[in-house]
Amino acid sequence: MSYLEMQDVDKHYGSGSERTDVLNGINLSIEQGEFVAIVGFSGSGKSTLISLMAGLIKPDAGTVSLQGKVVREPGPDRGVVFQNYSLLPWLSVFGNIELAVKQVFPKYCKSEIAEHVRRYIAMVNLKEAESKKPSELSGGMKQRVSLARALAMQPDILLMDEPFSALDALTRAVLQDELTRIWEQDRRTVVMITNDIDEALLLADRIVPLKPGPGATLGEAFDVSCLSRPRDRTAINQDVNYKRLRNAITNYMIELNTDHKKARTRRNLLLPDLNQPVDLTAA
Ligand code: ADP
Ligand code: MG
Repeated sequence: MSYLEMQDVDKHYGSGSERTDVLNGINLSIEQGEFVAIVGFSGSGKSTLISLMAGLIKPDAGTVSLQGKVVREPGPDRGVVFQNYSLLPWLSVFGNIELAVKQVFPKYCKSEIAEHVRRYIAMVNLKEAESKKPSELSGGMKQRVSLARALAMQPDILLMDEPFSALDALTRAVLQDELTRIWEQDRRTVVMITNDIDEALLLADRIVPLKPGPGATLGEAFDVSCLSRPRDRTAINQDVNYKRLRNAITNYMIELNTDHKKARTRRNLLLPDLNQPVDLTAA
């Protein structure tokens, strides 16, 4: 059994005419220390997929398991980073991370907590902003706090839902490099949702497309381990493997989207038979 396994997972929301089948027959195996990127179009069920891994929601059918144990609820073994930072506005950078550290390491004394918190603040280059509140931080800084908070919990696996997509391109690049540097230091298992193929190619070992929904399944995975590490964002553009993979993934995603649109169009054209109005005057 792999480190993280999803077996025949289905998930829908709502019921009756409001029912949305989001995921259907999801099978995914992730090995320890692997960095997997999941790419997909907006609304295809990426956040649903990562929420299932995090234990924030339960599958209708199938199982999600981490290290052989079925995931039923959120736990400190899974660090989660969302797109919208999810920081507590009344706590400082230090306070936000401290709160998480206290929960995970209840036996730490005050100085051990402070030392631990500061180590992770330094790791994401936020020393100067330690006592600032989230409202005083830029988007990039807020996302650094989220990342530091998740890493400070020393989770077995890091789950990230489009962590950098709200950031401008330059900040995004800086954070991608920081994440790479941190990941190279202590190779945790990472699952990252992204809609950016270049980001996925720069960071991941394997890229798994999520097909457009409803009832989305995972597509053919792309092995990115042929791109040697450390990966340099400028040099990589000249790499033949990078170019080949980038083309292959982009074409695959475009094809998926075209097929999906065709299927939808077909579905829209197949209207059900309507009852003809009855002429009551003839009766
Ligand atoms: P993505 O992250 O790929 O954009 P989501 O997983 O957020 O996709 O959503 C997939 C589909 O499920 C969308 O159609 C969305 O509207 C629907 N959805 C997501 N969360 C809920 C919810 N809590 N209740 C009802 N529908 C939801
Ligand atoms: Mg999402």
